[in-house]
Amino acid sequence: MHRFAVFALGWAVGLSLPLSAQLIELHFDNDADGSLSAGERAIFQSAADTWNGIITGYAPGITKTTLTIDAHDEFSDGVGGILATAGPNQAVSWGGYIITHFNNPGPGDYDGFMEFDSADVDVMFADGVGWENALFQTVLHEMAHVLGFGTLWEFNNVYDASGAPGQYTGAAGLATYQAEFNQPAAAFVPVELQGGAGTAHGHWNEEFTPPSGPHPPNGITDAFGRDLGDDILTGWTGPGSTSQQWLSETSAYSLEDIGFLIAYSAMPEPSLPALLALAAFSLALNRKR
Ligand SMILES: [Zn+2]
Repeated sequence: MHRFAVFALGWAVGLSLPLSAQLIELHFDNDADGSLSAGERAIFQSAADTWNGIITGYAPGITKTTLTIDAHDEFSDGVGGILATAGPNQAVSWGGYIITHFNNPGPGDYDGFMEFDSADVDVMFADGVGWENALFQTVLHEMAHVLGFGTLWEFNNVYDASGAPGQYTGAAGLATYQAEFNQPAAAFVPVELQGGAGTAHGHWNEEFTPPSGPHPPNGITDAFGRDLGDDILTGWTGPGSTSQQWLSETSAYSLEDIGFLIAYSAMPEPSLPALLALAAFSLALNRKR
């Protein structure tokens, strides 16, 4: 199976949903050199906690209760460029979906993996606080790829790169998009076609002038003026327009098309303007994968 590179960004607010169990379980034992600091690991955990607050379980018929993720860093292409790669290690048919799952795992076997460029981790860790922290956003993005966002779309028949490129048609994601972005007649959610393997066909579309031009707004905005191109699950980090990275309900509920149950509101909290004022993104044109 192909592995999609990943990098991520997010916007969960109001993470007060009671959880009976934590679905996502992080493992750092492949970070053998311990190069991910305690503070960086805490950011990884906060991203896991965020998804655990959004995902309420699996679709009926799927009794999996824990999704294990190997998180580590290795040097790849230096500062900037590709920040991380992530995806399922194995996927199986379960409950009518193809989900991330490692059959009969042995020691060191995990359902999915996230490999970060060690040159970028420290830079991102120092960039912003809370939801505006670049490492937090990147981990949130990469975790979505482990969950199957972009990586298991074709297996679940919600995207067809060869037959209908650029068109995500999963029912839950599309219905949410139609409502959230006031696109009642839309037949699909627009998917990225640029950026090459690992970026194209695995993210929402972000307007972009190759190879490194400006990222203007998509012009597809929610009721608060937030642009789809600034969603954490587009293929590039940093704000593509004048607004900041956020996690749309479309992104969250699209996971229902690949086997999860979701409870999430993208309503901004009152403190949001203050948080946005702190945003200082230096990674604006890096590729998230
Ligand atoms: Zn990605």
